[in-house]
Amino acid sequence: MNELPEYTLIRSDRRSLELRVLPDQGLEIRAPRRTPVRDIEVFLRSRLPWLARTRARLAERPAPLTLPLAHGARYPLLGQPVELKVQPGKRQMTLLQGDQLHMHLPTPSATTIGAALERWYRSHARTVFNAEIDRQFPFFAARGHARPTLRIKRMKSRWGSLSTRGYINLNLTLIQLPRPCLEYVVTHELCHLEHMDHGPGFHRLMDQQLPDWRARKALLNRLPVIHHDLP
Ligand SMILES: [Zn+2]
Repeated sequence: MNELPEYTLIRSDRRSLELRVLPDQGLEIRAPRRTPVRDIEVFLRSRLPWLARTRARLAERPAPLTLPLAHGARYPLLGQPVELKVQPGKRQMTLLQGDQLHMHLPTPSATTIGAALERWYRSHARTVFNAEIDRQFPFFAARGHARPTLRIKRMKSRWGSLSTRGYINLNLTLIQLPRPCLEYVVTHELCHLEHMDHGPGFHRLMDQQLPDWRARKALLNRLPVIHHDLP
């Protein structure tokens, strides 16, 4: 038998095992409190082919871009640049006008600009992501599914997930990427309402709902992720 790769084990009150590849290629396994290590290693061994594929994909990803948090910096919104226009103002305000994001901040600094940008991305993402879910949902509603509730998260190694407790989790970073990427991730997660796995039934439904999903997935994996330069 091959030796198993090193991993960090995180136990919690969860019911299933999960393997994650971190951006630095490290491995993390999340496990229920009482699962024996032997069972965890059987699980890891069964996931080795997936691990090799995932690591190859991550290695191909371009390095993240880091942008300054300052007046004049250009941040992406659905693939289009938006220029930060920062000025001191008594009342804090962030407003998008055309391709400019106006920020009035009592004390402009990289920290306050970063916090305002994060808040604005989140509130804008909430509107855009919910609209996309609503656009795609009628097909799934007709098949008897309840609309999952959106949760927006900063996730290190996934774009989205669907929980059996009625939540669709989407990565906040999707608000920066071109819309075809968001549409693909939403379709993928909604198709999990019908098929919880990635088997042939899941792929048939993806082909039916979004025939060019493979090209969109490839685009998603090719784009660099944007970080901001928080001090
Ligand atoms: Zn999936």
